[in-house]
Amino acid sequence: MSILQVQNLNKQFGGLAALRNVNLEVEEGAVHAIIGPNGAGKSTLLNCFVGRLTPDTGTVMFDGGSLLGLAPHQINQAGVARVFQTPEIFADLTLLENVMIPTFARRDGAFRVKSWIRVDGERAVREKAEHLLEEVGLAEKKDETAGTLSRGDKRRLELAMCLVQEPRLLLLDEPTAGMSRADTNATIDLLKRIGERGITKIVIEHDMHVVFSLAHRISVLAQGTVIAEGAPAEIKGDERVQEAYLGG
Ligand code: ADP
Ligand code: MG
Repeated sequence: MSILQVQNLNKQFGGLAALRNVNLEVEEGAVHAIIGPNGAGKSTLLNCFVGRLTPDTGTVMFDGGSLLGLAPHQINQAGVARVFQTPEIFADLTLLENVMIPTFARRDGAFRVKSWIRVDGERAVREKAEHLLEEVGLAEKKDETAGTLSRGDKRRLELAMCLVQEPRLLLLDEPTAGMSRADTNATIDLLKRIGERGITKIVIEHDMHVVFSLAHRISVLAQGTVIAEGAPAEIKGDERVQEAYLGG
């Protein structure tokens, strides 16, 4: 069963067609990779799923309901969470506070949460946050200030901030960008473990090692169009893909 269905999505930026009749079907529980050269429209596509951009035409159905026209927080509440290309964390708060915030924010929908959280850190929320920090390998740093983390650790923190929301669909825009090989491998392992919970994932990724380690299906975008879609083995052997992306 597919959890996300995208049909004939188009998005124009002035004279530039960033997305052209994009179709995408993502199976529930699968890891679906989106690959393609820089400027192919990958981030634009994710932005259309989370309400940051409104496509010109087309449909985006999640779990049987349309996501189009919903505000980002409504899409989030429907069960879609996203890890951004640049980590979006609260630099002046501790790791633990960062992971607690999404729960409070969801409950109260306000950014008073920053003062709130210090006053009234409920135990269950704190314990859940601690557990997740452990899961992403940041347990020892839980009381450090998030702004001091390395890039790789910031990404792990952001992942914990997504998981605390218990999403059904997790969108990851280049989760290993800027990471060392060791951090990249740790991230692959982490994403595999998360996979065991059955969260569906869409991963935009440049690193083919990551793509072929994780993905069940791959869509290849080039110049705003899906030029190939299939299982990793099919994509590896596809001539158009090699021409457009893998460099022959
Ligand atoms: P990718 O993530 O695949 O590298 P993007 O989706 O970021 O590609 O961008 C696709 C194309 O759309 C690029 O040519 C980019 O310059 C352009 N683009 C992206 N966002 C905007 C925007 N907000 N305004 C104008 N052009 C944009
Ligand atoms: Mg991008």
